[in-house]
Amino acid sequence: MTGTSLGDGPNLTRRAKKVGDVVEMSVLKPRILIVEDESAVITLLRYNLEHAGYEVDSVMDGEEGMIAVDENPPDLILLDWMLPRLSGVEVCRQLRRKASTKNIPIIMLTARGEEADTVRGLDAGADDYVTKPFSPAELMARIQALLRRARPALSEERLEIADIRMDLVAHRVYRGDREVKLGPTEYRLLRHFMEHPGRVFSREQLLDSVWGRDVYVELRTVDVHIRRLRKTLNEEGESDLIRTVRSAGYALETDS
Ligand code: CA
Repeated sequence: MTGTSLGDGPNLTRRAKKVGDVVEMSVLKPRILIVEDESAVITLLRYNLEHAGYEVDSVMDGEEGMIAVDENPPDLILLDWMLPRLSGVEVCRQLRRKASTKNIPIIMLTARGEEADTVRGLDAGADDYVTKPFSPAELMARIQALLRRARPALSEERLEIADIRMDLVAHRVYRGDREVKLGPTEYRLLRHFMEHPGRVFSREQLLDSVWGRDVYVELRTVDVHIRRLRKTLNEEGESDLIRTVRSAGYALETDS
């Protein structure tokens, strides 16, 4: 975590250019974290990923990788096998052990002829792997396939978790047969949760993703909107799918 936790006071405010200026793109543009110690490979990956419309972060060793994921979980990780300080397989193992990071798709980058490593990588919880030197086109296709699986919102027009349905085109939300009328912020919050089912987000992360990085909002504002979202979703006495994770944040349960 980045030094923020539930219970922090109003001193934790954020700088703003314009209040209420929410950037929808920050929700839709998938962010990919590259953990790789060869700068030439980072350059090649970054070029191709940005060209394909992804937001890209990169770090050059395993420990930095763990910190980067903690601070702002990406939508997908490209993880080199041979890394200084903490190996790729160890990073993978540690991410899979934590509830907040266990569902993030991981593609391992391995060197040719290291089939045994590849198997160990998949054992450690990687979703896929590519062998260096790789074809950028093939890697992009694998990334797309994994993201589609993990974030159906990127390719589909509706989201469905438990008995909640979200029609992204009509901007309508249903709980069972009942239409749920949400305010714009609650709608974006719910959408973010539904795009990342089960994942725990700190209030800081929710502010970044739902309000946008440049908006001046206090952390406790998140609690206010979570409360409203809960109230509206559970109006008819339905079970509460939003989980409060003590000193960590909030998550959407995947079944009621
Ligand atoms: Ca390496």
